[in-house]
Amino acid sequence: MNAPANANVLAPSVKLLIGGKFVESKTTQWRDVVNPATQQVLARVPFATPEEINEAVASAKQAFKTWKKTPIGTRARVFLKLQQLIRENMSELAALLTAEQGKTLPDAEGDVFRGLEVVEHAANIGTLQLGELANNVANGVDTYSIMQPLGVCAGITPFNFPAMIPLWMFPMAIATGNTFVLKPSEQDPMVTMRLCELALEAGIPAGVLNVIHGGEDAVNAICDHADIKAISFVGSTKVGTHVYNRASLNGKRVQCMMGAKNHAIVMPDANKDQTLNALAGAAFGAAGQRCMALSHVVLVGESQKWIPELIEKAKTLKVSGGTEKGTDVGPVVSCSALSRVEGLIERGVADGAKLELDGRKPHVPGYEKGNFVGPTIFSGVKPGMSVYDQEIFGPVLCLSGADDIDAAIEFINANPNGNGTAIFTQSGAAARKFQEDIDVGQVGINVPIPVPVPLFSFTGSRASKLGDLGPYGKQVVLFYTQTKTVTARWFDDSTTSHGVNTTISLK
Ligand code: NAD
Repeated sequence: MNAPANANVLAPSVKLLIGGKFVESKTTQWRDVVNPATQQVLARVPFATPEEINEAVASAKQAFKTWKKTPIGTRARVFLKLQQLIRENMSELAALLTAEQGKTLPDAEGDVFRGLEVVEHAANIGTLQLGELANNVANGVDTYSIMQPLGVCAGITPFNFPAMIPLWMFPMAIATGNTFVLKPSEQDPMVTMRLCELALEAGIPAGVLNVIHGGEDAVNAICDHADIKAISFVGSTKVGTHVYNRASLNGKRVQCMMGAKNHAIVMPDANKDQTLNALAGAAFGAAGQRCMALSHVVLVGESQKWIPELIEKAKTLKVSGGTEKGTDVGPVVSCSALSRVEGLIERGVADGAKLELDGRKPHVPGYEKGNFVGPTIFSGVKPGMSVYDQEIFGPVLCLSGADDIDAAIEFINANPNGNGTAIFTQSGAAARKFQEDIDVGQVGINVPIPVPVPLFSFTGSRASKLGDLGPYGKQVVLFYTQTKTVTARWFDDSTTSHGVNTTISLK
C-alpha cells in the first residue's frame, strides 16, 4: 500500500462511483493492482478520503428518497437488463478477472456466472418481497405486513470472487428498494467496476449504487457512519469479527461471511474415480482460494489406501497463467499470499505432517515471475498443527484417517468452522446420517463445493459466519428489509360500538 503517486504513471487509475459519476479520487494514497501471473501493474486503486466516503453515503441517502418509492416492476426490469448485459460481456468480464485475480478463464466465467444467477433472482423481486395479510383478526380488523427497505446499505468484499460476491450484495439490496455503497477488495477492483458500469447502463439511477475504494480506514468509516443502516461483509474471520462488533455497536444490522476449514469424508464404498476427481478439483481449483475449497479430507477405513492415486491425480494438474489453455491451477493472488502459503507448508513439515506432494516453486515456463505454488498434499494431519488450525487459502490438501463415519463426523464437528463439508459414499444411510449429524451449514453429498443457488441462501455456520441471515436468496430479502405490521380497522355504519376499551384485547 501507499505506493508513491508517481510510481506507475502509466497505469490507469480506478475511479470512485459517486452520485452516478465515475470520478478520480483526490487521495494521496494509492495501491497497484497487479497481475499475479506476470507482476504487470494493471491499474492504481485509490484509498478514498473521508470526504469522498461521506459524499458517497450522502449521495446514497439522497437517492433513497425516490428509489424506495420506485415501483417494483421498474426495479425488477433494471436487473432483467443487467443480466442481459452481463451475458453479452461475459468474455470481457472473465478476461479482466483473470488478469487481476489469477484464476483460469473458465473459472473466471464461473465466478461471473454464479453472480449472474443472483442478478436473475433479483429480477424476481416482485414475488420475493411480498408481505402477509390476516383477515378479521378481530371484528373488522385486518393485520398485514410490509417489507420496507432500510435505507443506505454497504458491502465490503474479498479478493477471491471479485465478480460473484459484489453481485451477491448490490443487486438484492437495490432490488429491495435500498441504495448502496460498495467497497470492493483493493487487490482486484477492476472487474467489480466494470460490473458497476453495466449496472448503470442497465438503468440504476444516479446515487443508488456508489463505490468507494480503500482498506482498513474505509471499512472503519463504513462501520461508523451514522447514515449506513446495514453492512454485508465477506472476507476473513479476523476482519469480519471486527466489522461485526464495531458496526453492531453502532446499531447497524450486520452479516459477515468469513473464513473456513472445509472437510470432506470419503467412505470406502465411494465411487473411487469420481471422488478423487472431485477432491482434486475442489482442493486445487482456483489455487485453493475459495472459501468453500476442500482443505481437509478424512479418509475412512480402506479409502486410506487411495492416497497414492490422489497424488497421481494432483500431479496431472497443469500449473500456469490463467489465460493459458488447459491450465488447472493459476497463481495465488499476491507475493505475500505466496510467501504465507509457502511458510505454512514449511510449518506443516516442522509440525510433523507427512509431505506427500510438495508443490512449492514449480517451473512455469513463460510465467517465471508469477505467484505459483502447485498442488500440495500432507497426510497424518492433526489438530494443533498450523496447516490444520489455520485457513491456508492455497492449493494445499490435508489428509487424516478415521476408522468409521462416527469418528470422522466427531473430528469435523470439533473444528470451530462451519462453512462447507461433503461426504463421498454410495450409501444412502451413511449420507443421511452425515446430513443429520454434521454441524456445518452447507453440506454436499457427492458434491464437493455445495454452494447453494440463489433459490436458497448461503448458509455457512458457527465460526464461519456472524449474523443470522445469509447473503442472497430468501434470507437476504429479510436482511435488507424491515418488516412493518399494520393492524387496521375501518368503521362502517354496521360496525358495532363497544364503547371505551381499556384492555389490551382487540374487540
Ligand atoms: P480480508 O478479510 O483480508 O479482506 C476483506 C475486506 O476487508 C477487503 O475489502 C479489505 O479491504 C478489508 N480489510 C482488510 N483488512 C482490514 C482491516 N484490518 N480492517 C478493516 N478492513 C480490512 O479477506 P480476503 O483476503 O480479501 O479474502 C479471503 C478471505 O475471505 C478468506 O478467509 C475466505 O475464507 C473469506 N471468504 C469467505 C467467504 C464466505 O462466504 N464465507 C467467501 C469468500 C471469501
